[in-house]
Amino acid sequence: MSKWPQPFVSTVSHWQATNRGRKSLYNHNKETPLPTDVIDYVVVGAGMAGTTMAYHLTRPGIADGKTVAVLEAKDLASGASGRNGGHCAPFSFGSLTLLCDPLSEGGAGLTIEEAIEVMDFEKRVLEYVSETIDKENWDVDFWKGEKVEVRISEPAKVQMAENYQKWIAARENHPKLKGTEPEWAWIEDEAEAKKATRIHNAIGYSKGPAGSVHPHKLATAYMKAAIATGRADLYSYCPVHSAKKVDDLWEIEVHDKGIVKARNVIFCTNAHTPHVFQGSPIADYLVPFQAQAANVTPPLSFSGSKYLNNSYTIEDGPYLIFTPDAGIVLGLHHATAHELGVMTKQELYVDDDAYVAEGISKWLRDYCKNNFSDWGTEAPGEGAMRIWAGMLCATKDTLPLIGQVPGKEGMYMAAGFHGHGMARIALSTKYLAKLITTNEWDEGLPKTFDITEERFERGQIAPPFITEQERNGGDSLAGKFMSAVGLSSGNKVVSVVR
Ligand SMILES: Cc1cc2nc3c(=O)[nH]c(=O)nc-3n(C[C@H](O)[C@H](O)[C@H](O)COP(=O)(O)OP(=O)(O)OC[C@H]3O[C@@H](n4cnc5c(N)ncnc54)[C@H](O)[C@@H]3O)c2cc1C
Repeated sequence: MSKWPQPFVSTVSHWQATNRGRKSLYNHNKETPLPTDVIDYVVVGAGMAGTTMAYHLTRPGIADGKTVAVLEAKDLASGASGRNGGHCAPFSFGSLTLLCDPLSEGGAGLTIEEAIEVMDFEKRVLEYVSETIDKENWDVDFWKGEKVEVRISEPAKVQMAENYQKWIAARENHPKLKGTEPEWAWIEDEAEAKKATRIHNAIGYSKGPAGSVHPHKLATAYMKAAIATGRADLYSYCPVHSAKKVDDLWEIEVHDKGIVKARNVIFCTNAHTPHVFQGSPIADYLVPFQAQAANVTPPLSFSGSKYLNNSYTIEDGPYLIFTPDAGIVLGLHHATAHELGVMTKQELYVDDDAYVAEGISKWLRDYCKNNFSDWGTEAPGEGAMRIWAGMLCATKDTLPLIGQVPGKEGMYMAAGFHGHGMARIALSTKYLAKLITTNEWDEGLPKTFDITEERFERGQIAPPFITEQERNGGDSLAGKFMSAVGLSSGNKVVSVVR
């Protein structure tokens, strides 16, 4: 049974607040009855995964003549996709720690070759998103440039230098990447780090490709392009409670609106997936958690010609992008929030985006002025103006679940984006559309994302994100957790929310 209607009113993000006009899809088909014809592809959830799914399924030559209905519990991008940092930023070599650490220690447990495939995939996602926005001529505040990953402690700097060497060597052994220009640079010079990043205690930084986008406008654009084909539609306020197979068709039960019949159903429900899959290994594999972000209006010292040039992730927790005109969107990595003591694990591991804990609001309000060397004084109306929360979905091995649900013919899933959906979704769903329509796995999609019984089995050795004791407000195991998942601000610094 899904947890809908939700027993709370969600916070509102900068993105959701700035795409309210008649060009948006708020309230789309809210009062329209459900389709009565059998639908070829029902997509559950209209976040980035659901809207890109609808987009890919309606591209010429993919599923010509077939119908698509997207059933969304609330409004389009009312979940994480409308609440994130807007950072479409591929993993750098710094992620090798997380990707290659053993599963039993909270890593993804990949070989270096598999890790390189994941990194290369994310790089291709950015290229794909950029090309699509260009080709479709979408006005979604897209920026493509460079991200800097700032290190402020010696152990973290050493770790980055080691990972850089490891990555360069592994690229040279990789058949597709051998001889190609590395897209990331690692800069160890402290003075250069301070100057380039404007972070007062920076001692080293990496630099590589990144993008940012208005995610609410982007999800809307994908959905509108699907609707424009005349073969797809979005139904808002349609929470799906269950899907069961009856005579070769999926019967999808929508809260108080009835049943939609479908030949295929694709769950794009991310953090909410466990509610619909209770009792299945999927529910055990996925853990919802909260993250928060703020829209910061910069003072004059960071405006106009002094506006930031790069997007950022920073060792002590923050990630930060800028909108073209409306300032910075700043977030704090969830595990660091816990380590810094601004959120308890009980507050963190919830599926509730109705509140932002006071500790984290304060941290978000203070970060820029405390850390940018020349930030200066904020006038009234400058600084963190809007603060919100969203729900993400951790997975046991930090990788998403993309593919057919084991043992359920005609049922598929794209979920579990572990804080990195913007960097993974657009191509995950493109290749999933190929799998659904041709039964072929595209080699462009890392095989490690496939949903298999064996993966569920293996995942059991991963440390729990939260224990029952912590869920009930008992002792926090912050340190153990942090080092287990390779996220400590000691020598393993890998952010999964960027
Ligand atoms: C504060 C914050 C900052 C983040 N920053 C970044 C970042 O900068 N870069 C990055 O790559 N990632 C970031 N993320 C993560 C990123 O937002 C997610 O990985 C991504 O948006 C997931 O997209 P999705 O479509 O899978 O899920 P969602 O956007 O959550 O969409 C799921 C949709 O399904 C609907 N739904 C759920 N259950 C049902 C049901 N039973 N019936 C019908 N509908 C249902 C929900 O209402 C929701 O609209 C951030 C997330 C947060 C919260």
